[in-house]
Amino acid sequence: MDSAERVITRSPEETEALGERLSAKLKEGDRVALIGDLGGGKTRFVRGIARGLGSRGFIKSPSYTIMNIYQGGRLPLFHVDLYRIGGEDEFFFTGLEEFIYGDGVSVIEWAERHPALIRDCMYVITFKYLGEDEREISIEKCGVTG
Ligand code: ADP
Ligand code: MG
Repeated sequence: MDSAERVITRSPEETEALGERLSAKLKEGDRVALIGDLGGGKTRFVRGIARGLGSRGFIKSPSYTIMNIYQGGRLPLFHVDLYRIGGEDEFFFTGLEEFIYGDGVSVIEWAERHPALIRDCMYVITFKYLGEDEREISIEKCGVTG
């Protein structure tokens, strides 16, 4: 899965399995940007990452409705969804950077809401809706960690 890889998945389970496969490569301080179509499978993919890390389930962040924290696995996983974040100003206002640039792994849905963040990611993964059960998922390794 080095540099870039493009996969077609034909079920939600296949998308989850792809997330699980990526999880094995993740190290502390890695950030993963998920971009692309609504209904593209981003949230399903995160579920696979969580399962792969061995997380037991998530807790809703007490302060952030746009973040879930998965614990109990190999690394803590911060699952952030920027869908409701308007723009750069609003992003900075959330204070989410503390988690995104903290210990553990962070996975950011709708990272395109905050383009500067994409440059700081180890992987950028693009989801495309092809048909009812078909998704094209492109995994690009960018190599930015810590
Ligand atoms: P996103 O977070 O990108 O908006 P979700 O993961 O929440 O997308 O939802 C994807 C939806 O598409 C789910 O209802 C899922 O069951 C369905 N689906 C159908 N085929 C696939 C597939 N190949 N991969 C992922 N999800 C799929
Ligand atoms: Mg989602």
